[in-house]
Amino acid sequence: MTATNHGLEGWRDKAEFRAQIDVWAQKLDVELTRVTFREMRTKWASYSTKGTLTLNTELLDLDREIGNYVIVHELLHDSVPNHGRLWKSLMTAYLGDYQQIEVRLSRLTVR
Ligand SMILES: [Zn+2]
Repeated sequence: MTATNHGLEGWRDKAEFRAQIDVWAQKLDVELTRVTFREMRTKWASYSTKGTLTLNTELLDLDREIGNYVIVHELLHDSVPNHGRLWKSLMTAYLGDYQQIEVRLSRLTVR
């Protein structure tokens, strides 16, 4: 891991992560009504189509690449409810090789 690899750098603080959520929400044209961080036992995040995004606080300690993956994954569910073809092609369009991030994520366990 090097200093020039921004994707693997961690988040400075919660405010920075929160700002990144707003950037993606704007880009993906999702209107968020509520964003909360809380301890979650079995998942990294959840999204309700009423615009509520809930994130596992543990994401704050992981690198940006993983944070961006989780944000985009959830926000795409605003318009695509499943993980089908459309969702996959949008993930690739926004994140590139997102599957390698899923592999990294699957190796981490939600505590
Ligand atoms: Zn999903």
